[in-house]
Amino acid sequence: MNNSANKEEEKVPLSYALLHAKCPRCRKGDMFKKSSYFSFKGQVMYENCPYCNLRYEKEPGYWYVAMFVSYALNVGEMLTVSIITYFVTHNLENPWLYLGVIFPTIFIFAPFNYRYSRVALLYWLTPGLKYDERRSSNPHKHS
Ligand SMILES: [Zn+2]
Repeated sequence: MNNSANKEEEKVPLSYALLHAKCPRCRKGDMFKKSSYFSFKGQVMYENCPYCNLRYEKEPGYWYVAMFVSYALNVGEMLTVSIITYFVTHNLENPWLYLGVIFPTIFIFAPFNYRYSRVALLYWLTPGLKYDERRSSNPHKHS
């Protein structure tokens, strides 16, 4: 077995950048200071990309938009656990059963939603912000 030597500047795959909440422009710098997904302490963001210096919050109040994304994620998760609960229990009589799975789900996924709503906002809902390979290899060549 011989792992061929990596190329000097490997293009960072979108899936990797998304999963690890990397900067949408260079895919190298982190968006969050800590990388623990399910922890409230891991939710502190850098103001600027530590690698290419992109300012994450495009304008004041921009993160409010992420709240709507977060809400959509929440609804999706609630529907998913409800459907799973139905297929597991076939119970349509007892609302407490559903509330009993929905509330912990909301709680458990809150940090996840917080993080990935911001990732989604920067990756897909911000016009003009996209991956720039040059930023990825020349960290100090920015204005
Ligand atoms: Zn960056």
